[in-house]
Amino acid sequence: MNAVAAELREILKGPVLVGEPLRLHTTWRIGGPAGLFITPRNEEELFAALRLLTQVGMSWIALGTGSNLLIRDGGFSGAVIHTGALRDMEFHEDGSAKVGGGLPVMRLIRQCVQRGLAGLEELAGIPATVGGAAVMNAGAGKQNLAGVLEGVFLVGPEGPEYWSCERLDLRYRASAVPSDRIVTAAALRFGRASSELLAKTVKQRLLARRQAQGVGKPNAGSVFKNPPGFQAWRLIDDCGLRGRTVGGAQISEKHANFIINRGGARASDVLTLIDEIKKKVQKQTGIELEPEIRVIGEA
Ligand SMILES: Cc1cc2nc3c(=O)[nH]c(=O)nc-3n(C[C@H](O)[C@H](O)[C@H](O)COP(=O)(O)OP(=O)(O)OC[C@H]3O[C@@H](n4cnc5c(N)ncnc54)[C@H](O)[C@@H]3O)c2cc1C
Repeated sequence: MNAVAAELREILKGPVLVGEPLRLHTTWRIGGPAGLFITPRNEEELFAALRLLTQVGMSWIALGTGSNLLIRDGGFSGAVIHTGALRDMEFHEDGSAKVGGGLPVMRLIRQCVQRGLAGLEELAGIPATVGGAAVMNAGAGKQNLAGVLEGVFLVGPEGPEYWSCERLDLRYRASAVPSDRIVTAAALRFGRASSELLAKTVKQRLLARRQAQGVGKPNAGSVFKNPPGFQAWRLIDDCGLRGRTVGGAQISEKHANFIINRGGARASDVLTLIDEIKKKVQKQTGIELEPEIRVIGEA
């Protein structure tokens, strides 16, 4: 591990961390250590790092804000590639833009409001990066990434690539991007609206989100996808699971599709709750809930 870290230090200008606690990088504040933790500053650095990792046979994952990730208590023994430094923004007269994969979606939305660019304002308050939002096809209200995305610039083991929307196959909280590709930037095309109207929508969405989802403790948003025709929170609630606690993890009293970290929760506590929810909802309703969150790492 140390030899790979030393070689990565030659490639990257930023720090190469060994054993970085991943709970510091997830909104759940849960997760064991990373074998290696790096933050490449551009596509070239990223590709050079991936080439080395491929040579030495070390796996990797991308990490944005960690707002949809449950990292197991044993951590992830490969390399965690944090996209936080990929934040460039380029806006064009015709309403198109190219923005970095590590850019916070909220920062992008603020720019869109100023520039009168419509299409993402209903996503205000989602604590995502652009890359994470593209891969998950994040959405809220009537909008999602698919509505504005033209394609993404990725880097994989073979180098930089561009995937159009067709290849991305964006679906409800899912896409075809495999785990060895890192989205470095997104090509977007917006509609037009007045800055006043956009600002009003953003304000409303932030307020509504605080009212419905202000659970007051670390969480990862909705744990399960809504099955067609149903709301996951209602199915969980109808099974009497609201407030159920395992270790430091609890099904939120306020929003039954959120699991909160009341302090010191382990990934295993969350996984036990997820398992209980799935089994009880299946038994009582016959509906199989599918997790929206992604589970990564070793027990
Ligand atoms: C309070 C709260 C509210 C939320 N509300 C919503 C909501 O309304 N709608 C919604 O859709 N989601 C919501 N989420 C979930 C979450 O914010 C989204 O899924 C978001 O898209 C995840 O982005 P991220 O940058 O945090 O990705 P991460 O959680 O860091 O990663 C998620 C997955 O994407 C991969 N990934 C991340 N970045 C890249 C990249 N650059 N290239 C390739 N792969 C990458 C990771 O490897 C991982 O598999 C909410 C979460 C929280 C905590």
